[in-house]
Amino acid sequence: MLDRYINLLKAGQIIAFPTETVYGLGADAWNLSAIQKVFDAKNRPADNPLIVHISSREMLHQFTDEIPEGAEKLMTAFWPGPLTLIFKKKPDVLDIVTAGLDTVAVRWPGHPLSQDIIARVGPLVAPSANSSGKPSPTKPEHIKEDFGEHFPIVEAGETQIGLESTVLDVSVSPFRLYRPGSIGQNQIENIIEKAIEVDEKNDGEKSPRSPGTKYSHYSPDARVQWLTEGTPLHSENLLYLLHQRIPEEPADNIIFFDHDYEEMAHQLYDRFRQADQNDYQTIFIEPLSPALQKKEPLAEALYNRISKAID
Ligand code: AMP
Ligand code: MG
Repeated sequence: MLDRYINLLKAGQIIAFPTETVYGLGADAWNLSAIQKVFDAKNRPADNPLIVHISSREMLHQFTDEIPEGAEKLMTAFWPGPLTLIFKKKPDVLDIVTAGLDTVAVRWPGHPLSQDIIARVGPLVAPSANSSGKPSPTKPEHIKEDFGEHFPIVEAGETQIGLESTVLDVSVSPFRLYRPGSIGQNQIENIIEKAIEVDEKNDGEKSPRSPGTKYSHYSPDARVQWLTEGTPLHSENLLYLLHQRIPEEPADNIIFFDHDYEEMAHQLYDRFRQADQNDYQTIFIEPLSPALQKKEPLAEALYNRISKAID
């Protein structure tokens, strides 16, 4: 069933495939012209480096030979899984992958289909399979919206997590978190038994070390705003995403997640896309407090992605 996609990748073409976070747009990580197609298809800025996806430790060694002890522990604990690690790169890693940096980002995804594909083709670069500026795709339909009906997609329904991986730089000491994801600061610190640094607000201006973090993931036609406490909920042209505040009456435009941050993360990008399709004017989202973010890694990841949609 995968043969067609494997052959396309081996021939230097690009395809979309599922991971546990979001769908990726894959290309052979050692094929310059294939990787160029990824940038062209997405209209991705050339200074935004790509994550290499692997499915074995042997593949990791194609890209780095500097693996700090703490990184070993993290790989044992979280790979395969939604954690991207940034290592010092080997000299022959293509500049187009790293945007000319001396480091390379690597992840071993957990989705069985991504593992099969990578095991058969070799390491793949795989940014999210969306046009730059659109939300990451969590369903095949999202990819078709951006790249057309006939784009080659390994279809596997909705992705489980729905937000992009945690990105942690292990080439510096202490390790530095550039992008929060479903694996949180506490879990990382518990494994390495050391404190890590967190980029202030994960804001690009303050973290030029991770170029991609400066780009908004999505500027919807609908405005995204934090919902002010006590504001009554209206119906017309507005979408509400609530997680604690219980709506007085159920309505199609009020989505209540009832403290289920996994479900909120799972649905966020799909709700963003739906809002634009339904011509909603504004998406109001109930704020995620600092205390909540400390407790729930996904609340921190949600806050990060929503803040970027608001800027
Ligand atoms: P994505 O578009 O989800 O694939 O994003 C990749 C993320 O990883 C972006 O935020 C990049 O800035 C970050 N990234 C990739 N490679 C590196 C690297 N070598 N150093 C720092 N950040 C990186
Ligand atoms: Mg992306």
